[in-house]
Amino acid sequence: MNIHEYQAKDLFRRFNINTSEGKVFDNENEAEDYAKSINSDEYVVKAQIHAGGRGKAGGVKLVKTPEEVKETVKKMLGMTLVTHQTGPEGKVVNKVYVETSSTIKKEYYLSIVTDRSSEKNVIITSPEGGMDIEKVAEETPEKLLTQPIDPVAGIQPFHIRKIAYFLGFDKNQTKQLSSIINGLYNLYTKMDCALVEINPLIVTNDDEVKALDAKVNFDDNAEFRHKEYLDLHDPTEEEPLELEAKKWGFSFVKLDGNIGCLVNGAGLAMATMDIIKHHGAEPANFLDVGGGASVEQVTQAFKMILSDENVKAILVNIFGGIMKCDTIADGIITAAKEVGIKVPLVVRLEGTNVDLGKETLEKSDLNITTANTMKEAASKVVELI
Ligand code: GDP
Ligand code: MN
Repeated sequence: MNIHEYQAKDLFRRFNINTSEGKVFDNENEAEDYAKSINSDEYVVKAQIHAGGRGKAGGVKLVKTPEEVKETVKKMLGMTLVTHQTGPEGKVVNKVYVETSSTIKKEYYLSIVTDRSSEKNVIITSPEGGMDIEKVAEETPEKLLTQPIDPVAGIQPFHIRKIAYFLGFDKNQTKQLSSIINGLYNLYTKMDCALVEINPLIVTNDDEVKALDAKVNFDDNAEFRHKEYLDLHDPTEEEPLELEAKKWGFSFVKLDGNIGCLVNGAGLAMATMDIIKHHGAEPANFLDVGGGASVEQVTQAFKMILSDENVKAILVNIFGGIMKCDTIADGIITAAKEVGIKVPLVVRLEGTNVDLGKETLEKSDLNITTANTMKEAASKVVELI
């Protein structure tokens, strides 16, 4: 789960990670009053969206006066920002962060992330900050340092010395870096993060080391022990259908193709997408209704697939284990009655209560194409569109 920069910076303050003074606004007059109250000779106005690359896209502006803060906030609110991370449709700016501007002597990169191959959390750092870190990793990997951290021992002084040396920090800067890295590691572990990233970490002209940007991603598996995640969650940043699916307990990912898929089990869902592609078409979604879905849930899943205008045909592929085939059949019929299925529908059922399921579908007067194997189902649905 991602959060906004302003929320990440609030967490930074709580964990004693140095950042500039700032506040979030959804109203330009309050932003102007705030700018007056902190009385700086330069301010930064930053669009709050769940995506990086804002700087290059016009989502980060430096201004001199509270009046300019007001103007800039007004312009940014409601605008659609397109960065290399948002996709071509962009993201609407609902909130804007205002902070005192910093001078920049040099920009660095610092993050902590889970590394599955070493089975440890690793600190990644680079003297090439402020830019696309993937590009640095690809083109100049020697400019990245990856330091695994033993989960029992935690951060040790030699880690800090090694990183500081790599970044070329002097004694004073290293002391500040130490407190930032320790704070970041505490935040990462205490809040069950999957990623904390500072890009750029800067050294100012006065040799102050601070986080200019902040990105925090929580590990969704830890949601049950952090009620706070809920307060930090911004549903406007998510695909509406994916939010809806979460409510119903489905795994759902919207895709760009035109064959809607209703499947039980993640492995079968992957295989179904593969076989659709194999037959030359593209799936419109990944949808795993789970092992023990009820008729109500199956109906809902159908409605979700049908609400996507791109869907030109539906493939239902069920292997009934805990899930019973007749439950799926009842769900299809209920959904057809409630919302109407106007696109071709191919159903392949196998497993528990398969005969009962097939019988139910046959008795209904719905126009359903049945198939006995996955291959047959995929080729039929592709033929139908
Ligand atoms: P991102 O583009 O979405 O990653 O947004 P960042 O917060 O990283 O800001 C982008 C760039 O704006 C930074 O790399 C800086 O060069 C510049 N920037 C941001 N804040 C300040 C500031 O306080 N002072 C100055 N001089 N530049 C800033
Ligand atoms: Mn950044």
